[in-house]
Amino acid sequence: MTTDLPELVQQRNVVTAIPGPVSVELMARRAASVSAGVGAAHPIFAARGGGGILLDVDGNSFIDMGSGIAVTSVGNSAPLVVEGVQEQVAKLTHTCFMIAGYDGYLDVCEKLNELTPGDHEKRSALFNSGAEAVENAIKVARSYTGRTAIVAFEHGYHGRTNLTMGLTAKAMPFKHGFGPFASEIYRMSTSYPLRDSRSGEQAAAEAISRMDAEIGASDIAAIIIEPIMGEGGFVVPAPGFLRALTDYATANGIVFIADEVQTGFARTGAWFASDHEGIVPDLVTTAKGIAGGMPLAGVTGRAEIMDAVHVGGLGGTYGGNPVACAAALGSIQTMIDLDLVDRAKQIGDVMNRQLSALAESTQAVAEVRGRGALMAIELVKPGTLEPDAALTKRISAACLREGVLVLTAGTYGNVLRFLPPLVIGFALLEEALDIITDVVKRESLVG
Ligand SMILES: *Cc1c(COP(=O)(O)O)cnc(C)c1O
Repeated sequence: MTTDLPELVQQRNVVTAIPGPVSVELMARRAASVSAGVGAAHPIFAARGGGGILLDVDGNSFIDMGSGIAVTSVGNSAPLVVEGVQEQVAKLTHTCFMIAGYDGYLDVCEKLNELTPGDHEKRSALFNSGAEAVENAIKVARSYTGRTAIVAFEHGYHGRTNLTMGLTAKAMPFKHGFGPFASEIYRMSTSYPLRDSRSGEQAAAEAISRMDAEIGASDIAAIIIEPIMGEGGFVVPAPGFLRALTDYATANGIVFIADEVQTGFARTGAWFASDHEGIVPDLVTTAKGIAGGMPLAGVTGRAEIMDAVHVGGLGGTYGGNPVACAAALGSIQTMIDLDLVDRAKQIGDVMNRQLSALAESTQAVAEVRGRGALMAIELVKPGTLEPDAALTKRISAACLREGVLVLTAGTYGNVLRFLPPLVIGFALLEEALDIITDVVKRESLVG
């Protein structure tokens, strides 16, 4: 079974005012039917997606520089994902893996065990969302160590459930009014090269001395960190920072968890961002890019840690759903077939070149940073490091009007992040970067 839809034309094309009339109508229905608590970064409704294009309900084609937050890395409705899902959904939609198994779950776990950093013996467990993966990684770490304290970091983001809100650093919009949060969470400062002059080793030494003094190493179950802060604004820590933290964790029997929900699966020009740092986390959490848009998440790690949990302690009704597993297998196969790890590197080179040229030409861009197809610019008031969130918002809206969909991020709301699908054509990518360049220059003069 396949679809008879014509291929989506890989061309930017704005045919109405943005938002167009149909989107405006749907936004009105949305306001009357959907909780106001569910935000809307862009006032448009999507009809189709594929390659580097998102088509809206008014017939506007946007260049997609967000991939639904690093999810559709293989593109929307990627052929192998569509095929896998269609085949699977016709055969078996659900059993609950704990009631009756199916081999797709095993295939995904084997892939995770193979692709995540390190060649030690591993085990995996599957869930529905990134937050759920993070929660389960914490459960596993506590169960294995018999300890309770969890260390997280400034600018970190780990989800919206109660435990993961507690781990997340940013109050607005993620935590405000939603407390109390879980106890035994301690937040340390991270390494943020633009805003802090310390070396990676110095920043880690400070965090370590605080962990020793304020918690006590022998009471820490886990250290959890994103190898590159995602929602925090693609902050790449100074070299040596993560390595020093993993060394400390290993020396003290602490489970080191890399939250690779956003950075994983080829996005950064490696299978996992931890690979760039040469670190081997004890546990890795994955979601977003894993299954081409279907909800799936995983926790993967050292067999002795993952197996320490009592039988029945991990699970959930839908975790590792067969259709989502089929999507993941199609997505991973696409990454291998098209060598999307290498494509991510090439995309990164193109973005870095054009964004660095932009940074040279305007003082509003304080820094270009990221790895591979995960790149950002941080926007400031010229000549200072004062965050300019208003400018960031204006740029994002202006890009949309010109047919380029970008995402914002950052603890101070002043980061534009770029996460194109890894299958985007280079001409389309360069066109998007040209528009972004023009818009940033123009809007930063508005003041
Ligand atoms: C998005 C994200 C999560 C949460 O994932 P959900 O699927 O939204 O629950 C957790 N950690 C990181 C690093 C993320 O980027």
